Amino acid sequence: MDYTSEQMSKLWAFMQEDIKADRISARMHRSTLRQKLEKLRDGILRQREEYRSLEEQITAMSDRVETIKMAMKKGESQLNSLEEQYRTQLPEDPADVQDLANAVIDCRDTLAMYEKELKDLQRGCNGILTRLPRLIQSISEGRKQFDEMKVEYTRESEELKKEEKAQRAKAEALRTGIPDELMETYTGVKRQTTPPMAYLEGNMCTGCNTALPNAAFRRMQDGGLVKCETCGRILITK
Ligand SMILES: [Zn+2]
Repeated sequence: MDYTSEQMSKLWAFMQEDIKADRISARMHRSTLRQKLEKLRDGILRQREEYRSLEEQITAMSDRVETIKMAMKKGESQLNSLEEQYRTQLPEDPADVQDLANAVIDCRDTLAMYEKELKDLQRGCNGILTRLPRLIQSISEGRKQFDEMKVEYTRESEELKKEEKAQRAKAEALRTGIPDELMETYTGVKRQTTPPMAYLEGNMCTGCNTALPNAAFRRMQDGGLVKCETCGRILITK
């Protein structure tokens, strides 16, 4: 397709304003505030996750404490009855006495084991309980900071959106006189490379500093639409 040099110049002028609008949009996405907000949000989510997991640990520990307490009660009454038997109805057979003594020792060992586990659980629970208030405070502070920053970010992005809209309108005003197909080619190239147009200096593309093959150079001199074979930009002569 051939286009007049006037149409190509119009497209060039359009591009100047169009890429300014793109830059504003990129600025919006690269915003430091936005990045800080995302980081803050991730931190809060991580802390909430930690809080949930600690809560689950406490619940599991409390359940275990209840189970142990019940087992200990049972063990204690078993020990009492064994000791009672030892005192009042000692068997005659020495082997039975030995069995009874062993049963008492086993029972005491089991109780001692439960006691130790209870202490460990208590220590574990206390450790978590001292961490929780700090965690809650940190989450609430993070949340507050997030909300404040969000207000600031919303203001900033609204300003940038306004700025971008104005800039897009400025570009749009220059669109008159540019054929639709040429515009479509421009948009297609822009998806791959930006800025999507470059000047030809001598036979060099100023977009990527590569020389244009002779055939393409001649085609351009005849007024054809030529794209740089290396960077894909639409070429324009001065
Ligand atoms: Zn090029």
